[in-house]
Amino acid sequence: MTTTTARPTGAQGRQTNYWRVRNGRTPEPTDSAPQMWHIRHGHPGGEYSDLGHELDPPEHHTPTLLTRSRRTGRREEEEFRGGCLACGWEGPVHHGAGYGDGDNQAVEDAHDHAFPGWRELPPLTTAEDRWALPRDRGRWAQLTSRYPPGWLDRGAPLVAWNRHRREEHAPPHRGRPRYELRVARPPAKPRTSPANQEALF
Ligand SMILES: [Zn+2]
Repeated sequence: MTTTTARPTGAQGRQTNYWRVRNGRTPEPTDSAPQMWHIRHGHPGGEYSDLGHELDPPEHHTPTLLTRSRRTGRREEEEFRGGCLACGWEGPVHHGAGYGDGDNQAVEDAHDHAFPGWRELPPLTTAEDRWALPRDRGRWAQLTSRYPPGWLDRGAPLVAWNRHRREEHAPPHRGRPRYELRVARPPAKPRTSPANQEALF
C-alpha cells in the first residue's frame, strides 16, 4: 500500500473518502464531510440507495450523481457533477439549488457518458405511462425493443416528457434499476391539434 495525501477522484473513491472523513478516519473535521464530493443520497452508491454498493465495480458504465456543499459568505450552496460507478469519469460542475436545478444537468452528463444518444430513446408521453408502462409487459417490450442492443440490461434510462420545467430526474432503485429522465415535451407540430394528440392516448 502506498500512502498518498491526494484526495481520490471518481465516484467510488470520493464516496470512500467521504465516509472516512465522516467517521473521523482522517485529520479533517468530521462535520466537513458534506463539503467533500460524495454520492448524492438516493443515487446509486449513495446513502438511502439500494443499488451500487457491491464491492466490485460494475462491468459497464453506471451513472450516478455527485454533490458537495460550499459555503459562500452566509449561504450554503450546492454543486453537482455526474459520476460513474465503473470508472473514474466525472462530469463538469453545475451549480444549483437541486430538485432539478443543477442536479438534472449532472445526471444528464452521466448518461451522456454511459449511454451516448439516450435523448433519442422513445419517451413516455403521459404521467399515466410512467406508472403503468413498467407493469404492462406488452407495452414495455414494445417500447424497449427500440433500445440499442444490450442497453436495457445495462440500466439504460427511461425517458419521460416532463410535467413542468425542471422536474427532477428520478434515481433508480432495485425495483426499477434505471433512471427516469424527464425531458421537455417537443413543441406540437402545427398541423396536429391538441384534440388529435389526446386521441392518440
Ligand atoms: Zn464510466
